[in-house]
Amino acid sequence: MFILKGIEQLEKAIAKAKKIRPRVEFGGFGHYRVSGSKGFYTVVCRKDERGYKTVACTCKGAEKGLVCYHAASALSLHVGLAKQRLTA
Ligand SMILES: [Zn+2]
Repeated sequence: MFILKGIEQLEKAIAKAKKIRPRVEFGGFGHYRVSGSKGFYTVVCRKDERGYKTVACTCKGAEKGLVCYHAASALSLHVGLAKQRLTA
């Protein structure tokens, strides 16, 4: 799990996601399933009780607090959906 502070944090992971182009499945607002090397990982984007945006992924990298490309892929979808929600 990591706390999302800005887009610069995601740059490397986004670059990797663009190369790998994982499948992202929508599982409800803030919940995504992203394809990885060993099947699908679950990514959860939420605001915690302190108001921080947190992103959790079930892969090994994210367990260590790394920003993985699954999270970056899910976030690009999440940000779009969150914007739609605001303007809806
Ligand atoms: Zn991951």
